[in-house]
Amino acid sequence: MSHCYDVAVLGAGVAGLTAAYRLRDRDVVVLEADSHVGGRTLSEFFEDGSWANYAAQYVSNDKLKVIELSDELDLELVPSGYHSDQFRGAMTPEQQRDLDPWLQRLEAEMANPRPADAPELDQVSVADWLEGAPVHVQDFFERWCGQLIFGANMETSLYGLMLLWGDQRTSAFTAEPVPRSNRGDTVFRGGTNTFTRALAEASGAEIRQGQTVTRVVQGEGGCTIEVSSADGATAIRARQVICALPGTVARHVVDGLPQEKAAALANVRYGRNIATPISILPEGQKGPQILVVPSRHDAVYCSNGFVLKTPGDMDRDGGCFHSYIHDRHARVVWDDDPRSIQSGALRTFGAAFPHLADRVGRIGFRRWENALPHYHPGRMADLPALQASVGAIHFCGDYTWTSNMDGAARSGEAAAEHARAAL
Ligand SMILES: Cc1cc2nc3c(=O)[nH]c(=O)nc-3n(C[C@H](O)[C@H](O)[C@H](O)COP(=O)(O)OP(=O)(O)OC[C@H]3O[C@@H](n4cnc5c(N)ncnc54)[C@H](O)[C@@H]3O)c2cc1C
Repeated sequence: MSHCYDVAVLGAGVAGLTAAYRLRDRDVVVLEADSHVGGRTLSEFFEDGSWANYAAQYVSNDKLKVIELSDELDLELVPSGYHSDQFRGAMTPEQQRDLDPWLQRLEAEMANPRPADAPELDQVSVADWLEGAPVHVQDFFERWCGQLIFGANMETSLYGLMLLWGDQRTSAFTAEPVPRSNRGDTVFRGGTNTFTRALAEASGAEIRQGQTVTRVVQGEGGCTIEVSSADGATAIRARQVICALPGTVARHVVDGLPQEKAAALANVRYGRNIATPISILPEGQKGPQILVVPSRHDAVYCSNGFVLKTPGDMDRDGGCFHSYIHDRHARVVWDDDPRSIQSGALRTFGAAFPHLADRVGRIGFRRWENALPHYHPGRMADLPALQASVGAIHFCGDYTWTSNMDGAARSGEAAAEHARAAL
């Protein structure tokens, strides 16, 4: 344990890898528990040129930091082609009439800029705000929060709903136009993991996978990071630490957190998600026989209605339906055998697209326990504590900024600046 790195980055997601990339002139080690880099940007690339995303997919045109990094790394962002309003679900004209006043109220809040932690926005849940609304109006927002933040009305603040409403803008307020790229909404050609793999490579850092951080202790002249791996337990020394772990993990592994920091981390909650991306072969090709086993007759196995797909001509080249189950439905089947969940997704897919059922080439599977950090009531008031460094440990991750790749990248960049200033 004699070597002492300049910086140890804990967690190789967008946040940690952006930090490592910005510190590429330093002696950096990245410690990652999983067997892949990229965390929630996991994707697979197939020999036929198609790909499947298991989590992050869209780079909407307001995600300027991701676009900037992509350009620096010479990656290709291609028009997403599919971004649909179908998330909203069908409504009768009468239901729409009931909904309209609530949308007007929401838009009036958005036209009235205030600090993000204003109690009437940050401390109020969507469920509180909807008090007295007809059930189908509550259902509408339940679906919206479920799809966009994998949480429920009661788990989302009014400020969070304002961030999520419309086209997922980076500001809750509409009074000031949000800067946007002129390329439209895009995705990474080859899958989102292309982005994080490129960040990892360009960082020049020593990347260690299969290394679970179990404890971080600060001492004189640096930090000791205890790590467990298939080879046993080891300890690593670094002058500065960038903790890019999920908030729920950071809270348990970092020793001696000040009370305010520990309390803010204790409030961080993630919605779950199960991804079952379904790859389709080009027209004229028949997929292999996929074993289909029993699944629950009343469970939801795809909650996004298959509205998200990889871009391109699916008949000519094949492609992938981004299929997932968000928290409220994922909980029901969470412990079921993966084959049962995949079978449920395939049955749902077959019912929606009978003409494509024969062309299913493969179906993936991934459970995300920490899929998206909620915009829980009080999150904005907690942000200063979540972002604060503790001695030589600098915290980042989407839970410290906005719940998407852009927030993760921005937070990683800020943490790198703090570490650099302290070196
Ligand atoms: C289904 C889904 C769809 C999404 N869609 C989009 C989208 O379209 N657009 C968008 O911008 N965002 C999207 N997101 C959100 C986006 O993926 C995240 O906001 C972003 O990737 C978070 O990056 P991060 O670095 O903060 O966290 P993570 O990617 O979670 O990185 C944390 C890393 O820490 C590692 N780790 C955990 N515990 C330990 C430990 N003890 N020791 C060492 N390592 C550990 C993890 O394995 C992980 O690699 C989506 C997320 C999901 C789940």
